[in-house]
Amino acid sequence: MDLKALIRDIPDFPKPGIMFRDITTLLNSPEGLRYTIDSLVEQCQAKELMPDHVVGMESRGFLFGMPLAYQMNAGFIPVRKPGKLPAPVHRVEYDLEYGKDSLEIHQDAVAPHHRVLIVDDLIATGGTAKATAELLSQLGCEVLGFAFIIELVALNGRQCLPDLPIISLVEY
Ligand code: 5GP
Repeated sequence: MDLKALIRDIPDFPKPGIMFRDITTLLNSPEGLRYTIDSLVEQCQAKELMPDHVVGMESRGFLFGMPLAYQMNAGFIPVRKPGKLPAPVHRVEYDLEYGKDSLEIHQDAVAPHHRVLIVDDLIATGGTAKATAELLSQLGCEVLGFAFIIELVALNGRQCLPDLPIISLVEY
């Protein structure tokens, strides 16, 4: 299936000069959605990336991470923007183009012997995925790898991630 045909390109969003890859049109397609999740499962199985938990980043990482976890008989762990999680958290700060952002995870979300897979809709610079991997290493668990729907290859996000398997279904 041609997933690119289901991803909508929005020029100048959220600011001038940015071409935003809109995945709501992919989610909207019953066949596209099923194909996307099935493809992620297949590629994870092929690379022996079968985790105890899938970790998804707010908010589009939730949309793909949750059905993937369900399909893999894994649990799902949300990584959220600051102040959203109700129980005690670990926090990591990371650099944006201008300024900083942070992500949080519940301290008791995962045990050290657990194996996790990090999932997001898109990898650009890799900052979000790298920060999430750091958060998980604070919890002492094993990160098996990363899975994305979209990879913006020109931004070289892979290079800032740890040396682990990385799956992406569509490249721009
Ligand atoms: P990075 O941290 O790799 O630079 O950026 C990746 C994060 O930004 C992801 O959480 C992703 O949801 C969001 N993101 C950045 N650009 C786009 C885009 O064009 N389309 C979508 N769907 N998400 C984007």
